[in-house]
Amino acid sequence: MSDANAILAKLNAGRPSLSVEFFPPKTEEGARQILKTAAAIRPFGVDFVSITYGAGGSGRDRTVDYGDVLRGIFGFEVMAHLTCVGHSRAELETVISGYANSGFGGIMALRGDPPKGETEFKPHPEGFPYASDLVAFIRQKFGKRFAIGVAGYPEKHPEAPDAATDLANLKHKVAQGADFVTTQLFFDNAHYFRFVDEARAAGITVPIVPGIMPALSLDQARKFHAFCGSRIPAELERRLLAADADPEARRKVGVDWAVEQIRELVAKGVPGLHLYVLNRPDSALELLGRIKSEKLLG
Ligand SMILES: Cc1cc2nc3c(=O)[nH]c(=O)nc-3n(C[C@H](O)[C@H](O)[C@H](O)COP(=O)(O)OP(=O)(O)OC[C@H]3O[C@@H](n4cnc5c(N)ncnc54)[C@H](O)[C@@H]3O)c2cc1C
Repeated sequence: MSDANAILAKLNAGRPSLSVEFFPPKTEEGARQILKTAAAIRPFGVDFVSITYGAGGSGRDRTVDYGDVLRGIFGFEVMAHLTCVGHSRAELETVISGYANSGFGGIMALRGDPPKGETEFKPHPEGFPYASDLVAFIRQKFGKRFAIGVAGYPEKHPEAPDAATDLANLKHKVAQGADFVTTQLFFDNAHYFRFVDEARAAGITVPIVPGIMPALSLDQARKFHAFCGSRIPAELERRLLAADADPEARRKVGVDWAVEQIRELVAKGVPGLHLYVLNRPDSALELLGRIKSEKLLG
């Protein structure tokens, strides 16, 4: 089975797949953290891992470097992210060829955010304005070599004028050849369920995998709210605030909340779970430990 098919088989296995997202660290301490986290999650039967792509500038090679480590040392199937930011088509093709040479089975195809200090996304003159163009390009140049994931936004992409327009754009993006959608993180499952209902009604049929992140402090949750629009339910805010002075208690609140979300998501038949663990071995271990000990995935 090719690596692409291995990822697709997990997503269509009839039980929720389990994937974990890492980011490529910039420092030695960060390198220690990702290695520790990867080692910690290895025994938990993770189906594949994803590794994010830098927002721009130097150091984007770290995606392939750490993808190689996650695949070569830890044996994970790897989905490498890729954005259109600052890249011509020729550069994108070179990066994608590198992913193929590394044996990565999947690509999370993204537009990316505007670089720091800029408010509007400006495509490279020889590049692409939207993730849908990148999806079409990967299919055109590499056929079925990769499983392709794209991003979906249960609470709407911040730049989209309204949810219906965002959904129409998602439909077009999927139609270019995406195999599945992974959502932006959300703290209230109601947003996800509504989004999936609307996507199905719009004719989007591919798996829509919920993205879950344990909120480890109110400050962190507020930053995510400001950055990507994920609203904080009043009850979560109250619990995080009550635990604010104690990092251990805060972590427990965040993990408990994520477990509550996961329990309901799995009960309602989601195709997979994508965990944003931010390279943190403690919360990753605790969350995966709870998923296992409470047999949330069967
Ligand atoms: C699962 C996931 C993983 C991510 N990983 C990374 C990462 O590794 N690196 C990183 O830098 N960022 C990452 N991001 C963030 C992502 O890059 C940003 O959210 C970015 O602002 C949008 O990327 P996109 O691929 O969703 O863009 P697109 O799908 O291109 O959408 C961007 C905006 O354009 C609109 N749009 C789309 N098509 C059209 C069209 N034809 N005409 C008009 N408007 C249109 C959409 O409605 C939306 O508002 C990730 C996000 C998610 C949810």
